[in-house]
Amino acid sequence: MILDGKKIQEKRLEILKEEIDESGFTPRLATVIVGSDPASELYVRMKHRACEQVHIGSVGITLPESSPTKEVVREIQFLNRDPEISGILVQLPLPPHINTMQVIESVLPEKDVDGFHPANLGRLFAGNPAFSPCTPQGIMTLLNEYRIDPEGMHAVVMGRSIEVGRPMAALLLSADATVTITHSKTRNLPSITGQADLLVVAIGKPRYVGPSMVKEGAVVIDVGTNRVDGVLCGDVDFDRVKDHASAITPVPGGVGPMTIATLMENTFLAAKRSLCTGVW
Ligand code: NAP
Repeated sequence: MILDGKKIQEKRLEILKEEIDESGFTPRLATVIVGSDPASELYVRMKHRACEQVHIGSVGITLPESSPTKEVVREIQFLNRDPEISGILVQLPLPPHINTMQVIESVLPEKDVDGFHPANLGRLFAGNPAFSPCTPQGIMTLLNEYRIDPEGMHAVVMGRSIEVGRPMAALLLSADATVTITHSKTRNLPSITGQADLLVVAIGKPRYVGPSMVKEGAVVIDVGTNRVDGVLCGDVDFDRVKDHASAITPVPGGVGPMTIATLMENTFLAAKRSLCTGVW
């Protein structure tokens, strides 16, 4: 079974648009981009396009590549105070001279629709999430849409980044999976991934995972977004793994669209919560 993120994205965005129209208010997302990295610019454009589609207002702020950390933080504080802004998204990665954690921590947790603020990550790990990071939350939605229940499964997560691996593990644990996290120092990796009923791969290595690393009948979620000779591919060797797995996400068209759908959902959530102070 191919887990079609594009199709589920369209379905979720359609439902969200109706909810937003019925709510009678307009959520607003502010995006902050530092510099002019073409991939980051493309991702931000896609997010603004999705905003338009679901009737979320959007504001794009672009700061020069040379901006020091304190200037980025000042811009975010301005957005924090703006009652018209429901959610703030800082496009990562930031240029290397910028203190990324300081920037993330400057976003008001109530407007942190990316879910990377330590308050939101802490709540997620405590099993009481407010905003969960969009990629892993989008994966949970995709699994749910296809009636794949992680309860009791051995879920193996490859990668331990704050954006994907760690929150993915927390969400799967909350969904009653037994979770193993692996990383670049993990020994005997294939013997661990080969035990996975559900394998989530987020390592940024093109087509790294082949059939010998995957248990027959496993569910395989490929988060990787790599460009090889101008062609987009995942961290999983899709063509060789697809007949081995019971369900698998393609790249493109799998996890990526779900990330964007979740960002829209989180922004609407932030807007709703801002109307009932203290509820978030
Ligand atoms: P990242 O911050 O570079 O983290 C990569 C992780 O993979 C690290 O924890 C690293 O381990 C681990 N790793 C590297 N080689 C490994 C190996 N051979 N076996 C097991 N673990 C290994 O990357 P990220 O931000 O999590 O992103 C991962 C991939 O997902 C990238 O291709 C990125 O573009 C993509 N992505 C896609 C979306 C989407 O919406 N589709 C969203 C976010 C990211 P160490 O910690 O030991 O270094």
